[in-house]
Amino acid sequence: MIEYECYCCLCCGPIVRTQVGSSSPYVLRKRRERVEMRRLAQMTGDPYNSVLNLYEDEYDEVIDISEELTTYDPDLATGERTHWIKSLQVLGFNPEAIGPSKCEYKRGRGMIEVPNGSDPNQPSVDADTYYNCYKSENGNDVVFPFHCKCMAVLKKVYEWSLSHTSYKRVKSLDSAEIDMDSLYFAFAALSEGFNTFLDLDYGNFFGADEFWISIPGEEWTATDPLSSAVETIELPLVSTASRSLYSRVRSSSDAFGAIPNEILHIICDYLSVEDLSSFLIASFVVHCATLEPAFWKSLGSSRLPWAWDLWERTTRHESQSELPIDYKKLYFLVEARTSHPYGMTISLGDWMSLANRRRIWTACLDLLPHYFDSVEEGETEETIPSDSADAAIEGEPLSTALLFDAVYPGSDED
Ligand SMILES: [Zn+2]
Repeated sequence: MIEYECYCCLCCGPIVRTQVGSSSPYVLRKRRERVEMRRLAQMTGDPYNSVLNLYEDEYDEVIDISEELTTYDPDLATGERTHWIKSLQVLGFNPEAIGPSKCEYKRGRGMIEVPNGSDPNQPSVDADTYYNCYKSENGNDVVFPFHCKCMAVLKKVYEWSLSHTSYKRVKSLDSAEIDMDSLYFAFAALSEGFNTFLDLDYGNFFGADEFWISIPGEEWTATDPLSSAVETIELPLVSTASRSLYSRVRSSSDAFGAIPNEILHIICDYLSVEDLSSFLIASFVVHCATLEPAFWKSLGSSRLPWAWDLWERTTRHESQSELPIDYKKLYFLVEARTSHPYGMTISLGDWMSLANRRRIWTACLDLLPHYFDSVEEGETEETIPSDSADAAIEGEPLSTALLFDAVYPGSDED
């Protein structure tokens, strides 16, 4: 039987511990040079082969080539940043449930060994201790594993979607809480043909192989998406020179000179971040029409809702300081730091959390249409009480013993 590792259904991230490499200054320097070369190659579209590059060091007895390909930078993948991985739950389905719902929460990983949880719908672990993830084998029940923090992100995405999209008009959607039965059926529909994760857009990374590979430069994919690192990010402030330009300037030679600011703002809202940047450079009128910080704050918070705590922090800053934030600079800064996060250096380490959250938010956005389809189709008969959903998110972290004692399919047959 083929052995493989399952991943979080919401982020496709690891549900076991990650591996960190040597902390030797020499080895670290060489590793970071390779990661930077690969990062630059990605940015320019040039080919780069980590393996070939690494084998140039094969006569360097200090460097373990195999380890260097499969371990994170110990100064980036710190215990504080990766501890969240251990807090895991699964969503399963119990057709014999006596309670108000057929869904239950269990805890575990891989082909999961499940201890007793707090959900009243969970069947007795004496009757069935092991569950398959994603794909059923030997008639076992299928469950879907997820990080507790990823479920918290999904809840945020769900709340945001209700107030910013047309989903709230979905028939039968009358709850501010995620219906776990409908979520289970959405997971099931997205797992057809997939054994270790769902058919979702999880972003551009390569760690989720047959087994999780802690690829150097991808430390951000295993970073706590809800860490408080956003509090340490330096907010750019408006310079005195910029403040003097807060006036409407018109130029007869500018093609956009006759267009009202309100229309220019709408045009800006339709442009990608790259096109928006070009638009601002191309037209001085547009540049001047978008000098007001309020425009950029609104644009940033609407386009980058996954950075909700950063926007909350700017609001706190405004109430506590007279130094205005340069929201235009902040918007482009957040975009730049989180859109191509491969190879983040230590100095940018505080951005890894937001970069991973952006990735997870995107996957959850990709999931929501399937969830709402499931709600509309009425595939479920009853709704799980909201306090059960909250309990799943706020549940006790798993013991590490349970996580690392997990059993994979076939591992006991060798
Ligand atoms: Zn996850």
